[in-house]
Amino acid sequence: MVTILDSKTKPRHPEKAHKPDTPVLKKPEWIRVKAPGSPVYAETQKIVRENKLVTVCEEAGCPNIGECWSKKHATFMIMGDTCTRACAFCNVKTGMPDALTADEPEKVADAIARMGLSHAVITSVDRDDLADGGANHFARTIGAIRAASPQTTIEVLTPDFLKKDGALEIVVEAKPDVFNHNLETVPSLYLRIRPGARYFHSLRLLQRVKELDPAMFTKSGIMVGLGETREQVMQVMDDMRSAEIDFITIGQYLQPTRKHAAIDRFVTPDEFKGYETIAYAKGFLMVAASPLTRSSHHAGDDFARLRAARARRG
Ligand code: SF4
Repeated sequence: MVTILDSKTKPRHPEKAHKPDTPVLKKPEWIRVKAPGSPVYAETQKIVRENKLVTVCEEAGCPNIGECWSKKHATFMIMGDTCTRACAFCNVKTGMPDALTADEPEKVADAIARMGLSHAVITSVDRDDLADGGANHFARTIGAIRAASPQTTIEVLTPDFLKKDGALEIVVEAKPDVFNHNLETVPSLYLRIRPGARYFHSLRLLQRVKELDPAMFTKSGIMVGLGETREQVMQVMDDMRSAEIDFITIGQYLQPTRKHAAIDRFVTPDEFKGYETIAYAKGFLMVAASPLTRSSHHAGDDFARLRAARARRG
């Protein structure tokens, strides 16, 4: 369990500090993760620290960090460690962010080159305080990675750019290989889980990516175990297919702290298997559905499979 306090005087989630503690459910045996600590893990950590970078792996308290960092796979979170939103599921710090670091795109690109990544995943905090929502910083980061590592494929996992006209177009023009934006949950839970966002705006964002660049892969994910029904998950799949989303990820919600949204239940591995079968039947090119699936988990291998699936479908 991650602490909600950075120090006695600086709460990490000030907006959640007054909330009552939610119950903590015992994790089932299928939520088992590799402990961090291998030499490669330490090397990944060193590169992240030396370049003064932020990763969502650490900020979100991702359960897969032991496995991913031991394979030199990390997801970089640009534009700081402080988010202007306060989603009920997310462990990223909330508050007023600092100004952008001008040379961050080059630092990210340097880390990716040093790690020799064949596929890089870049995400960010929400920057509602910036006129472009951070779109130009995303575009500059994509450009810097292309310059330093021309063979590396690039996946972006962006905020929703709500009320930031023209922002999406800037990111699409920078030509990432995969455009990912997570719907996170079913529409009926938005008010409780993702109050600052709008379901149809997020869906439309992904549909617009395809309209702007039909060759770009689109990807989106949801968490389950938050109280959604199976039928609601099916509806989200149908909505995603209507928006021509290529790749769906479905993973178990894990509660970062007792001040975050409670886990309603642990979805069983068999139920995830069922979701996978149905999602393929609905026409997704790629599906990742398992308790520990996260947007960026195995992203490199999945990208290769995604490309192969499109080539097969023709
Ligand atoms: S699944 Fe993604 S966020 Fe989690 S450790 Fe792996 S790369 Fe980082």
